[in-house]
Amino acid sequence: MTEHFKTICAHAGATPDPHTGAVTSPLYFSSTFHYPPTGDYPPGHIYSRESNPTRASLENVLAQLEQGEEAAAFSSGSAAASAVFFSLRPGDHIIVNFDAYAGVRAMLKDVFMPWGLAVTFTDLSDISNLTKSIQPNTKLVWTESPTNPQMRIIDLVSLIAICKQHKIKVAVDNTFATPALQNPLVLGADIVMHSTTKYLGGHSDLTGGALITAKKDEQWERIRHIQHIQGAIPAPFDCWLLMRGIRSFVPRMAQHLSNAKAVAEFLSNHPKVERALYPGLASHPGHEVAKKQMSDFGAMVSFLVNGTKEDAIKIAQRVKIFTNATSLGGTESLLEHRKSVEGVDSPTPDNLLRLSVGLEDANSLINDLEQALH
Ligand code: PLP
Repeated sequence: MTEHFKTICAHAGATPDPHTGAVTSPLYFSSTFHYPPTGDYPPGHIYSRESNPTRASLENVLAQLEQGEEAAAFSSGSAAASAVFFSLRPGDHIIVNFDAYAGVRAMLKDVFMPWGLAVTFTDLSDISNLTKSIQPNTKLVWTESPTNPQMRIIDLVSLIAICKQHKIKVAVDNTFATPALQNPLVLGADIVMHSTTKYLGGHSDLTGGALITAKKDEQWERIRHIQHIQGAIPAPFDCWLLMRGIRSFVPRMAQHLSNAKAVAEFLSNHPKVERALYPGLASHPGHEVAKKQMSDFGAMVSFLVNGTKEDAIKIAQRVKIFTNATSLGGTESLLEHRKSVEGVDSPTPDNLLRLSVGLEDANSLINDLEQALH
């Protein structure tokens, strides 16, 4: 996290407002804007589905956080992902890490494969699987790192180098890592996606998504057009809440990280835990790669309990400070048995529990897990 990054976060928004001097970002609810009737459709804010000043401020901040040329905000992370897939053509082929977020896998299987996209799901943590999966019509690789919820690390530098050789675009879902810890565009990726519902919003009180592009190329123009004509845009109030969340992102992240390290360390030494899955642990197979491409290891921790699905669910039922709930990145710690929500075709192990480590005292979290593991 650079000094500049911290300033961008602390000042998030078009502040001070050039018209009023307001130090926090103004909130423009207006759905429509006056324009002079000159016989054409002038640039500027005309109609809020296409652009709105509050959304424009947010998009400006998001582009800066990921060091991209431009950002587009969406009503959810899933809407953002969907815009990327719609920017391809029926008949195109894409490669996706097999343990990507379950909603993205479902979207591909239920919507985009019937629409005509060919998809290969493969384990991209073994980079040789990428080369094996490339076809003449491969247009995009979509990956997360760390992956949700198995916490695999994908070697983004090697992946991007191979994709560049084959003129394949790379889109990285950077939700788990956050722009504080990993900047895929700086590593050479073309598009970054975020579920801003998570760490950037940071308070479990909004749903949002974002795409940030390295370059305003032809595919990006299509994505912008899709944002405008399909209209999966965030309401101005959600854009404002998100900028409010980003203002405290840096100190929140620092506390998330130190708590996650303590929790992962505790789990890695517990006899009832088969394996703690956290890239910050030296025992994690992706630890060395993570050290190269991330400035820290994030605050998501998964673990395999020593036992069955039923044993894992019993532990989930016993926690008192962790809340059993889906999602992540809020101030409160959450725990979830992912297989239960991902369904039968999920590649997630039955005995996996996923933690979003929040901002409570680290000892309280560890004591809660200790009593639940008994
Ligand atoms: N990507 C990841 C890694 C996620 O965890 C999620 C949601 O949990 C999404 C994408 C989808 O985001 P949203 O729920 O905002 O649509």
